[in-house]
Amino acid sequence: MAKIVCVLYDDPVDGYPKTYARDDVAQPKIYADGQTLPTPKAIDFKPGALLGSVSGELGLRKFLESNGHTLVVTSSKDGADSVLDRELHDADIVISQPFWPAYMTKERIAKAPNLKLILTAGIGSDHTDLQAAIDRNITVAEVTFCNSISVAEHVVMMILSLVRNYIPSYQWVVKGGWNIADCVARSYDLEAMQVGTVAAGRIGLAVLRRLKPFDVGLHYFDRHRLPESVEKELNLTFHPNVESLVKAVDVVTINCPLHPETEHLFNDAMLSKMKRGSYIVNTARGKICDRDAIVRALESGRLAGYAGDVWFPQPAPADHPWRTMPHHGMTPHISGTSLTAQTRYAAGVREILECFFENRPIRDEYLVVNGGKLAGVGAHSYSEGDATGGSEEAARFKKQSA
Ligand code: NDP
Repeated sequence: MAKIVCVLYDDPVDGYPKTYARDDVAQPKIYADGQTLPTPKAIDFKPGALLGSVSGELGLRKFLESNGHTLVVTSSKDGADSVLDRELHDADIVISQPFWPAYMTKERIAKAPNLKLILTAGIGSDHTDLQAAIDRNITVAEVTFCNSISVAEHVVMMILSLVRNYIPSYQWVVKGGWNIADCVARSYDLEAMQVGTVAAGRIGLAVLRRLKPFDVGLHYFDRHRLPESVEKELNLTFHPNVESLVKAVDVVTINCPLHPETEHLFNDAMLSKMKRGSYIVNTARGKICDRDAIVRALESGRLAGYAGDVWFPQPAPADHPWRTMPHHGMTPHISGTSLTAQTRYAAGVREILECFFENRPIRDEYLVVNGGKLAGVGAHSYSEGDATGGSEEAARFKKQSA
């Protein structure tokens, strides 16, 4: 029988919801590339319920306990006195979501001699030291595609809100003003701008498709080129590297995973190549951008705006400079955890656990590390190594807010 430690974000401050804004959640029948939605044998939750917070338990308790397993659910994940650290010594499986990541560093993996599976309820397993998982032959899996479209929708929203200066205009209304000139002095049309994505995987391609009707010029860079038919359909300009892309566009959207190759890709040198007044929307991972270089670029006017929902570390300490830098549209890490997405990734987690306990293969597209090497989506999109360095800083959030 297995012990599962599941790290989830806290419930809402006013308690776990008793009712919801809508009675149902609309779901696609199939993902855009033909991949099927998760196929667990059963689920024990109501689609549309808040599953990602501690009381939601990803809908797993009945399933796990009725099969004799032990489930520990906690939001306490940072610092040596965290519940996560206390429970690791005999844990077989650790589950967490990128929104509130259990940073599975080499040191933590060493504290968990029984650990066999690290599961990301979502997409993006950079919070796990993949090299340490490879070395220990631990399987790492994520629920590929579960929230890619959720994020793509968020990216389009953030591009429009930056370019059109939505957030400051909204704030003038709340403050009781009617300051049209203040609102429009930084407001532009997106039409005819050039927009480029770093990576054209599931999210990047979905962003390109959604932006096509806005009559913008579309650009991309990726390690693998898209099929010619897609390039033609969307009238895409391919760039051989990120430098070439950033020089050509007004808006950059970052949609690659964080791994050693992409850590701090957007540093002072890269930002200096961008047109003055460019925008960046980063919903991929905070660490792909150099924190202080972004602040400097906003202050100097190199960047006209920066938005996204990803930070490093998470939760971001109260004094993280992205909370107060000019012209930003940051939210906490929420784009991939809409109630719609939670329904899909909770079902995906259940599917992966069923496979694991029944000794059935986990879908190849869900695998990041398996058999002591990068596998499945991991072999395609990640590189070996570790991107968790500095994650201990996340402990400062609790101390500051205590
Ligand atoms: P995919 O695996 O479909 O796409 C990732 C793409 O990134 C692939 O096309 C891959 O290229 C490309 N890539 C990898 N390394 C590089 C590189 N060095 N330079 C350029 N491109 C690169 O994943 P998704 O699109 O579904 O998700 C992408 C990322 O978005 C996730 O890894 C995660 O970090 C983030 N994410 C954020 C969420 C949020 O809530 N904010 C939710 C979900 C995901 P190739 O395979 O061709 O080598």
